[in-house]
Amino acid sequence: MLYIGVVPANTHAPQRALEDRYGRRISYLRISVTDRCDLRCRYCMAEEMAFLPRAEILSLEEIAEIAAAFIARGVRKIRLTGGEPLMRRGAIGLARDLGRHLATGALDELTLTTNGTRLAEEAEALREAGLRRINVSLDTREPALFRYITRWGDLSKTLAGIEAARAASLAVKINMVALKGLNQDEIEPMMRWCAEQGHDLTLIETMPLGEIDDDRADRYLPLDAVQRDFESRFTLTPLAERSGGPARYWRVEELGLRLGLITPLTNNFCADCNRVRITASGLIYMCLGDEAHLDLKAALRSGGRRALDAALDRAMILKPERHHFAIRERDASPAVARHMSVTGG
Ligand code: SAM
Ligand code: SF4
Repeated sequence: MLYIGVVPANTHAPQRALEDRYGRRISYLRISVTDRCDLRCRYCMAEEMAFLPRAEILSLEEIAEIAAAFIARGVRKIRLTGGEPLMRRGAIGLARDLGRHLATGALDELTLTTNGTRLAEEAEALREAGLRRINVSLDTREPALFRYITRWGDLSKTLAGIEAARAASLAVKINMVALKGLNQDEIEPMMRWCAEQGHDLTLIETMPLGEIDDDRADRYLPLDAVQRDFESRFTLTPLAERSGGPARYWRVEELGLRLGLITPLTNNFCADCNRVRITASGLIYMCLGDEAHLDLKAALRSGGRRALDAALDRAMILKPERHHFAIRERDASPAVARHMSVTGG
């Protein structure tokens, strides 16, 4: 049976809270504003990609409308992602639009995950829109390896973007996907660099999402082994903070670094999951590791806000208890056919 709770006293969100069949309250929405990207990171995409036809993409106004419906139902945090969110024309206007919910107090946080290639131009505008923290993906600080991993990337652009974010007083968290035999030896230098620069660092296990040209099994680096290695050399103090996702946080005392580990494969934290995702074409996915979804764009276009609200209730029933990711066999198909760039990382 679908249980529909009531949002605690909050002048901005008197409507029914979004809660799934397992009693998990949905307070965090990730929006993929585009599935397109100017890079082709090997663990994320194939070199040749078929992107969504533009006609299927939600307009920026529709994204804002859907976000408002979620906020009215108790969502307190929104992350814009993709694909590369800053590739979408009007992304800053969307951020400004959503930023109005910060000003009213209806939303606690608006944030963004970016590859940083366009951040140098946009950091100041993001700050003005109300963002205070952003995640920037940086798997290596070696220019040649950066180009290899991203296929087309220019490291200097991402570094300039990170610098611009700092100049705009945006706190930066670096996302680094741990890749066996590629950037494994750079994890410790990256930790030291992040500590020096005052950035947080999050290490991420490769997840089996979407067909790519490489074999993920070759590159899969379980982070529990990395953690054991750190523990033999550093003092790792666990931090109580949880984000309702698969990340756990530590302070690396010797470096003064806040370190996150995202370990959906070696650990499972689905019981605390507080998030859902919408694609650029308006599908809501209830779990990154599950195909169950529902079409919010169709609901919005056919029946407006009322139909959208009803669709959100139906979506809550679809949220699975847990994901079933695994990367075990070589040449195995990905656990989920959709790329991370479709649902947004
Ligand atoms: N383009 C932006 C970026 O790279 O930050 C935002 C979208 S990207 C899909 C979001 C995050 O997902 C990035 O940190 C990226 O490294 C990560 N990612 C992409 N594919 C992944 C995969 N198969 N497994 C684990 N992380 C992945
Ligand atoms: Fe693009 Fe981000 Fe995927 Fe890299 S990880 S290909 S930057 S969407």
